[in-house]
Amino acid sequence: MAKMRVDSRGRSRPKAVARESGGDCPACGAPMRARRGRLSLPIHRERTFVADVPHLRCTSCGKIVLRWSDAGVLEAGAFSRYREKHGLLSPSEIRELRRRLRLTRARLARLLRVDAPLVARWETSRFPQQPSHDALLRLIRDSPESRGLLRRRAA
Ligand SMILES: [Zn+2]
Repeated sequence: MAKMRVDSRGRSRPKAVARESGGDCPACGAPMRARRGRLSLPIHRERTFVADVPHLRCTSCGKIVLRWSDAGVLEAGAFSRYREKHGLLSPSEIRELRRRLRLTRARLARLLRVDAPLVARWETSRFPQQPSHDALLRLIRDSPESRGLLRRRAA
């Protein structure tokens, strides 16, 4: 996780650089103060807000910098908020449906025409699936006919 675009109160902000601790503002050199507030992270190009995220804020220019732990809080919050908003299957539900259908990650990835590492990311909470992929996952889970069709296309 190198750089994350964040903003607070709906205003656009420059990219914040994740770092281990405080120090001076990378933009203007003024001291940074530890704060908590509402920040956002784009998930599939959709700005996703998370309340009460710890971060450092410049006392002069307002630049926001995230420490590694702050970035983790923002990311986890944004992922869960995005899943909630779009009613997505949870990581464990995806794992469960794949196991029930006796599919390896590679095989499921082929059916959906995505990369196998992407399926792993969905299943391990590292990134939520797009709503369109979620719809396909539900089709595979609920409709043997769709499953057959996708299998023939992937063969
Ligand atoms: Zn500054």
